[in-house]
Amino acid sequence: MDFSAVIVAAGSGQRAGPGGAKQWRTLGGKPVARWSLEALLAAGARRVVVVAPADDTELAREAFAGLSGWVLAPGGATRDQSVISGLKALDADGEEIVLIHDAARPLVEARHVEALIAAIADADGALPALPVTDTIKRRETESGAVTTEDRSVLWRAQTPQAFRFGRLAAAYAAWPTGETPTDDAAVVERNGGRIALTPGDARLMKLTYPEDFAMAETMLGGVRAVRVGQGFDAHRWGPGQSVWLCGVEIAHDRTLIGHSDADAGLHALTDALLGALGEGDIGDHFPPTDLQWKGVASSVFLEHAARLIAARGGRIINVDVTLICERPKIKPHREAMRARLADLLDLPLNRVSVKATTTEAMGFTGREEGLAAQAVAAVDLPL
Ligand code: MG
Repeated sequence: MDFSAVIVAAGSGQRAGPGGAKQWRTLGGKPVARWSLEALLAAGARRVVVVAPADDTELAREAFAGLSGWVLAPGGATRDQSVISGLKALDADGEEIVLIHDAARPLVEARHVEALIAAIADADGALPALPVTDTIKRRETESGAVTTEDRSVLWRAQTPQAFRFGRLAAAYAAWPTGETPTDDAAVVERNGGRIALTPGDARLMKLTYPEDFAMAETMLGGVRAVRVGQGFDAHRWGPGQSVWLCGVEIAHDRTLIGHSDADAGLHALTDALLGALGEGDIGDHFPPTDLQWKGVASSVFLEHAARLIAARGGRIINVDVTLICERPKIKPHREAMRARLADLLDLPLNRVSVKATTTEAMGFTGREEGLAAQAVAAVDLPL
């Protein structure tokens, strides 16, 4: 098949949770964007332009290591600007078939490409589309009146979408400034083009939310497992007026001594998450000899561990922290701590637990020499 392609990998993917832009995260053992690039090259793409944020050049080079036949182009502020940037970099012959594809749809296959190229023979554009199975309601913004749409004429648009290079470039040139198309076919439609639909595929799903990664892994036949990690930490009491525990500052007549803010709750939980990954401990990632971590808020450590999990295509199932001390009383602050951890880990509150116990005046916590914390975390990870 003779065609070129533009892969749009310029999104920041805010809705996909922590772990950085979704196109560079791992799915089934390789970066999300690499799936599309490999598939399009294998389907016979002559040349592929990958549009990525200029800041992501290194990430892209790493993600595509060992592949040839691709070049990078800088992303724009919106998707349509990114596509225009990709078309400029492609600079193909007007009659050449060009496929525009979202990197967030990694499971594209040669059969999808074949269907598009066949369909564009007598159309100005072609795209895979799925029938709508849910009943679609319309609610008027002003009146709130609800009516039912005729779903038999409605289709869900997917990518890749196929066009002749010259036709698409001309349609983009004619697109009114100030309006933002949500796909490329819309641009050609507005320009009077006829669009053909090819069979859509659940495998062409778009990775939007964190749970979509697990769904895509399943489609790949990937095996996942729940892994458990545990963490323990203790810090010594010293003179002070407040103490940080589980990301919450509590007024107290002493403070915990440590290199960072000495938040033993966050340290134990960070170690639990790193333990589930099998990626060492907090000291490996943030050496206490490194001055840049002196006095730092320990939320930085926890968010780092959460990003490592997301980058591996994992999801935290639940976390449970126990603080061990005689004083301060933890109970009045427990809900604030849960809320803070839920916020840091982007988890619903019911998957975050904070508990406290004394040791009945026994041992170093009982003698109030120090405070200890332990934590467990369950993480759902690709095997
Ligand atoms: Mg510590």
